[in-house]
Amino acid sequence: MDEEDSGQDYIFKIVLIGDSAVGKSNLLARFTINVNGKEVKAQVWDTAGQERFRAVTSAYYRGAVGALVVYDVSRRHTFDRIGRWLEELQTHSDMHVVTVLVGNKSDLRDAREVSTDEGRALAEAHGMFFVETSALDSSNVKPAFETLVREIYSILRRKVS
Ligand code: GDP
Ligand code: MG
Repeated sequence: MDEEDSGQDYIFKIVLIGDSAVGKSNLLARFTINVNGKEVKAQVWDTAGQERFRAVTSAYYRGAVGALVVYDVSRRHTFDRIGRWLEELQTHSDMHVVTVLVGNKSDLRDAREVSTDEGRALAEAHGMFFVETSALDSSNVKPAFETLVREIYSILRRKVS
């Protein structure tokens, strides 16, 4: 980290998207962040469950520079709908959005319906980062958010300098 940079704070808007009950709110509940020893504030928006009843509104996406696109590794249909969520994100967002594909509930080993390789392949096909998480035992949750924030941070720094 540059000396001249050490006093700055950055605020990013990040959105959580994906089908109902994939674990978005639980991931957020376990989120804390520190990038290179520096406190980076990410303003993370959660859907408040509106994806269950109607489309997520464009206000939700407006200004977002990052998105965690979440599915549940134990429910294949939530994985099959990722393409639809990406379309929605592209339709409504007004900036370049860094995206991380998140396969949540990796703790449910016996109920797994989507393999790690399938997740990784889908992420590669769409130019997304990929991580599997468990919000239940907090595994990989921090890396998921940090990967996203680190990438946004490096893009912003390139723009500023
Ligand atoms: P959202 O609708 O995407 O916000 O999902 P929630 O965060 O409300 O989680 C939906 C359900 O899945 C809740 O019953 C959670 O306790 C459960 N859940 C969330 N994350 C995990 C996880 O990593 N593992 C397991 N086993 N259950 C989880
Ligand atoms: Mg929720």
